[in-house]
This record gives sequence, C-alpha cells and structure tokens, in this order.
Amino acid sequence: MKICDLHTHTTASDGSDTPEQLVLKAKKVGLSAIAVTDHDTVCGLEEAKKTARDAGIELVPGVELSINFHKGNMHMLGYYMDTADAGFQEILKRVQGARAERNPQILALLDNLGISISMDELETLSKGGQIGRPHIARAMVEKGYVKSVSEAFDKYLKRGARAYAPKSILSPEEAIQVLRDAKGIPVLAHPFSLLTSSEKELDTIVFELKEAGLMGIECYYSEHDRAFTSVCLGLAQKYQLVVTGGSDYHGKAKPHIMLGRGRGNLVIPYDCVEALKAARAHV
Ligand code: AMP
Ligand code: ZN
Ligand code: FE
Ligand code: FE
Repeated sequence: MKICDLHTHTTASDGSDTPEQLVLKAKKVGLSAIAVTDHDTVCGLEEAKKTARDAGIELVPGVELSINFHKGNMHMLGYYMDTADAGFQEILKRVQGARAERNPQILALLDNLGISISMDELETLSKGGQIGRPHIARAMVEKGYVKSVSEAFDKYLKRGARAYAPKSILSPEEAIQVLRDAKGIPVLAHPFSLLTSSEKELDTIVFELKEAGLMGIECYYSEHDRAFTSVCLGLAQKYQLVVTGGSDYHGKAKPHIMLGRGRGNLVIPYDCVEALKAARAHV
C-alpha cells in the first residue's frame, strides 16, 4: 500500500531538518509523497521541490497558517496554492510581521521572570527560518532554565502561561479565502488542538468553516487516537471534505514523532494525495 505524509516542518520554520534532508528521509522511509507545510512560510518549498525531483518522490507544496481563534489552537493547512499569488504573499508578510513583533514580547516577559534570552540566540537557533515558541523553548533548555521543551511550554509559553503573548492575526475565514483565491486547498489541521469539549462543538466549528469554504480536514494525525480519528472521518463525510493526514514531523524539535509514522502506528494512505489532487478542480 502506498503511503504519504502531508504535514511536516523544516528549518524554514521550527523543524530541525533542512528541506533537502527531510525529502531524502521521506524517500528513505518509503513514502510515495510528502508535503512540506512550514509555519507561515513557503521558503523551504523550492529546495524541497528540487530534491524531490532529483530523488524521484512526489512533493506536495504546502503551508501551515497560524489562525486567530477563540478556542484552543487553530492552524490551517494549505496545499497546492500558487505561492506567487499577491494576496497569499501579502498574508504571509502580515503573519510573519506579527511573529516578529511577538518574539521580543515573549523575551521581555521572560526577562521579568529572570530568564534571559536574546533575539541573537534565537536567530542562531532558527538558522534563518521563521522563529517561534519552539526556538525559545529550546534556548531555555540549552541555558538550563528548564529541563525540557514541554516544561518550557507548560510553565511559560503555552496560552495563558506567564510568558505567553498572542500572535495570530488571521481569521479562519480570511485564511480560507486567501488560500482559495491562490488556487490552494484549505484543510483544517489537527482538529484535536481546538480542545473542543464535545463532538457537537467540533461539528459546529467544522460546519462554519465549511460555509467559509474549507475543503479538507486532517483526520490521521500523530495525536489523534482511534476514536477521535473516527469522529474526524465522520465529519469529513458529513461535510464532503477531503480526508488528509500527517505526522507533524519536526525532527529533533519533536523527537517522539517519526516521519510518516507519528508515534509509531500512524498510516496515511496515498489516497489522501489523490483526493487533494481531485479537489484542485473545484477550488
Ligand atoms: P508558534 O508558532 O510560535 O505559536 O509555536 C507553535 C509550535 O509550538 C507548534 O509547532 C507546536 O508543535 C509547538 N508546541 C505547541 N505547544 C507545545 C507544547 N506544549 N510542547 C511542545 N511544543 C509545543
Ligand atoms: Zn511547529
Ligand atoms: Fe500545527
Ligand atoms: Fe505543524
């Protein structure tokens, strides 16, 4: 059976593999296709495309947009968009600007708590990619302020924690519209992260996103158990959404997540790629 991975990160955002390393790894572990979906940037796509062409593996161009939403943590995946589209470029610039404003805010909050990290240190860690909280967490580990990245998030960086600063400025509707205007396919990423308290609540959110033009939902995901995957598959069927799946591989930044396999039992059928391609006719 052909398998794929439609959600991965590189050094263009907060992953630890370069686009080239990631695509070669995808080939090595036997994936038939891989999507590169960096946070709020498409800077890794060119290198990924070139490597994929040379290595003989299918690359699905993607992005993962940070969304401003009242509940949990919403991310919107986009696939096959025209990355040169002016509206799309404009949105990336806006979201990247919001990130650039937020990082010093977080550092200032940490400084008040006696934790000293500089923008220079983050820039070294990020190797020129989009800087986010995972880089700040890594710097905190390296300097001995916390024992692990998850401790950094729990104590300081997660929403509501002492050094949290909000970032996203993009509404779900805007993200969906801009992706579709750029001939891309908007897909709701990892629905578990919305932290909905009932199936009904998730159903309502997905219904509203569908009304706004959502075309897919990430059902297979490293942190989705069997029951939650079924709930997502049910919603995909109910709202005629493309079923996708991904590991959210970040390399060393999330060492417990394996490319294509998540925590070990993830299987993402290549059918997901076929479905995405079929959907391109309806953007
Ligand atoms: P940012 O883009 O700066 O908002 O950071 C989002 C990234 O932080 C995502 O890639 C998540 O995987 C990661 N992240 C969010 N919460 C946690 C957590 N509790 N532990 C480790 N990583 C996290
Ligand atoms: Zn990430
Ligand atoms: Fe995400
Ligand atoms: Fe991700």
